[in-house]
Amino acid sequence: MFKRVLIAALVSGALSSPALAQSAADLDPQIELTAKNLMRYAMSDEIGLDFVEGLTTEIGQRLAGSEAEARARDWAVAELTELGFDAVRIEPFEIPFWSRKSESVSVVSPSPQPLIATALGGSAATPEGGVTGQVVRFESLSELRAAPISRIDGKIVFIDERMIKTMDGSGYGMAVRKRSQCAQSAADKGALACLIRSVGTQPHRMPHTGIMARDGAEGAGAVAAVSGPDADQLTRLLARGPVTVSVDIQTEIRTNAPSGNVIAELTGTDLADEIVLIGCHLDSWDLGTGALDDGAGCGIVVGAAMLIADLPERPRRTIRVVLYGAEEVGLFGATAYAHQHGDDLDKHVLASESDFGAGPIWRFQTRFGEAALPYARKIQRLLMPLGVTPADNRATGGPDIGVLARSGVPVVSPGQNGMDYFDYHHTPDDTFDKIKPDEFRQNIAVYAAFTYIAAESGWDFRKQPDPVAAGTE
Ligand SMILES: [Zn+2]
Repeated sequence: MFKRVLIAALVSGALSSPALAQSAADLDPQIELTAKNLMRYAMSDEIGLDFVEGLTTEIGQRLAGSEAEARARDWAVAELTELGFDAVRIEPFEIPFWSRKSESVSVVSPSPQPLIATALGGSAATPEGGVTGQVVRFESLSELRAAPISRIDGKIVFIDERMIKTMDGSGYGMAVRKRSQCAQSAADKGALACLIRSVGTQPHRMPHTGIMARDGAEGAGAVAAVSGPDADQLTRLLARGPVTVSVDIQTEIRTNAPSGNVIAELTGTDLADEIVLIGCHLDSWDLGTGALDDGAGCGIVVGAAMLIADLPERPRRTIRVVLYGAEEVGLFGATAYAHQHGDDLDKHVLASESDFGAGPIWRFQTRFGEAALPYARKIQRLLMPLGVTPADNRATGGPDIGVLARSGVPVVSPGQNGMDYFDYHHTPDDTFDKIKPDEFRQNIAVYAAFTYIAAESGWDFRKQPDPVAAGTE
């Protein structure tokens, strides 16, 4: 309440600078002042941080399609309702369900010892008791694909490819190919199972799970990721001679499991039918508590929306917060949303999502119509005091809103520093303590500012140059 009063006082205070002449890209000084106040108050946010703390503590892991993900939806509905959001609801859909029941990987010979490993999402089960075979090592997926069947048939494939650590996560796309395609490529050549070096960047004995394929519950073969140090161990053993390992993976598979998107809104005023969407995903992998991936993203968008809700007046457009379901196992929530809202995508004036941990935002990309680029620059200039660098107009949006971007919805991508993100991603170590509150709050500051401006300014981010005006230049 104290904060609410402070923001109201600041917002209603007289402007010290004289009103500027308004051009298309000028921001109403009152809107700019309010955005700056939102940025300042974000730095003492409690609501966003409480949201991710509560979600990860009271629910914990939220595997897509599981009973835990269902509890997370109910939890989120109760929280968002209590926070005062409008139109809080679940938009349900069904997904194929996969979960691990048990998994173990161990060296049988020359020296029996366990390897720390985890099944990838969608892995096929091995026969009861597992499979045992000689390991054949490859340094990349392409090396596996080029190898003759005779080298692979009846063996256990091991792809020992390392992931490169980068600030923008660009090493992930390359590294993840072995995760999605090892099982199929190995099975095609008669392999018993596939092991990969974890798709991750830390030196600890933590295996990284993740989906192996995007098109269903069960993939082509049994596949597990071994931790980095265990991949090293296996490689050292192989340098000494033949190594036999045993892989035992048991799974549970169902075809129709419930999932859903949780939606909450701040209804706009005179432009209430126009939507500014900010999203995250509510599901997580099962090993950690999904704090960085993606409890943090949900805390960021909820925290940002709540700062705006605390203003004395609602912005003109509706702000829609979407907590997508079943992202990890194949972007099912994103697809369901695009399907369920296909008729009003033209009413979505801007979309953005937070799904890259809680590191500080260092750049701000957009994907606007060419004539709307002055709006991008205005927002980017406003964000610079937060350490955010203006970036290009080639934003893709992110996993859950990519489908909206491809349908022509303007998007922004606030790029987080993800240098450490893949140290924790999809491991048991993705827990609440990894969130640094100050960095998390800087994210809320960025989201609150651009979301408020998009909702209050009335700007058209799709705007293209006027062909007549361009022709008479
Ligand atoms: Zn994620």
